[in-house]
Amino acid sequence: MKTEKLKIALQKSGRLSEDSMNLLKKCGIRFTNGLGKLRAETENFPLEIYFLRDDDIPEYVADGVADIGIVGENVLAETEKSVEIIEKLNFGKCRLSLAVPKNFDYRSVKDFEGKRIATSYPNILRRFFAANNVNAEIHTISGSVEIAPSIGLADAVCDLVSSGSTLFTNGLREVETVLNSEAVLVSHTALNADLQAVLDKFLFRIKAVKAAEQNKYILLNAPNEKLEQIIEILPGIKSPTVMPLAETGWSSVHSVINENDFWEIVEALKNTGAEGILVLSIDRMIQ
Ligand code: ATP
Ligand code: ZN
Repeated sequence: MKTEKLKIALQKSGRLSEDSMNLLKKCGIRFTNGLGKLRAETENFPLEIYFLRDDDIPEYVADGVADIGIVGENVLAETEKSVEIIEKLNFGKCRLSLAVPKNFDYRSVKDFEGKRIATSYPNILRRFFAANNVNAEIHTISGSVEIAPSIGLADAVCDLVSSGSTLFTNGLREVETVLNSEAVLVSHTALNADLQAVLDKFLFRIKAVKAAEQNKYILLNAPNEKLEQIIEILPGIKSPTVMPLAETGWSSVHSVINENDFWEIVEALKNTGAEGILVLSIDRMIQ
């Protein structure tokens, strides 16, 4: 019997496109995506790719036209479609923030009372103001939100920010975070058993890619009398590997450390007397 294909919706062209396609490639899935094509078939995994506008992805997945999709949490929260969040993907990180012109004397969220706010995220913003007991006038515009105050269309904006440079160049100052967002894998709420099996296989690969990106392989040489201290610093998947060096009294220690603790661990190791510390990227990591 032929395996049923899992249909995945990806952003056609935009900030999530490249990372989404790279994730598939790192999962070992080969496909050809001709420029301007709306659909791609994969060669070595039962997946069929649809390239869509990001705003349409939650609806396609909710309706079952696509089985799964990759989309920003911001878009999900705005559209309020019923889909299941399967996995956070660690890219497309941004926040939805309120920002005011530099000369706005801002003290608290109450300062938005009665003000006109331009945004492409009216639903999220409405909920935020309701939770904060603020009555503001929300003006929904579909793009170039950041110029609204300078052309007199609004008193403030609520827009997506990553570095903050767009706000800065438009004379705006970020004052409140409304929502933190990253790309997530979403799924239709009721997949049949065959499709669920394909999704599980895909998810297993995604987790291996994510784990590899979040961890580093570390090797170092240590004088034997310091081994106990060094092992204390290194967590490892189970525990570090220790092997004797050709030179007596010394050992080689191998372990895996989390990207986030990286510098602190390396400094602590150096202070303990570790030498020849090597840190390597991990290709895939199966936990
Ligand atoms: P489309 O044509 O598909 O509708 P778009 O213009 O709405 O594209 P993009 O600007 O490509 O969307 O952004 C897609 C997603 O990337 C956003 O919804 C958000 O989740 C994420 N993102 C990450 N950083 C930023 C940022 N600095 N500004 C905007 N979006 C960001
Ligand atoms: Zn969009």
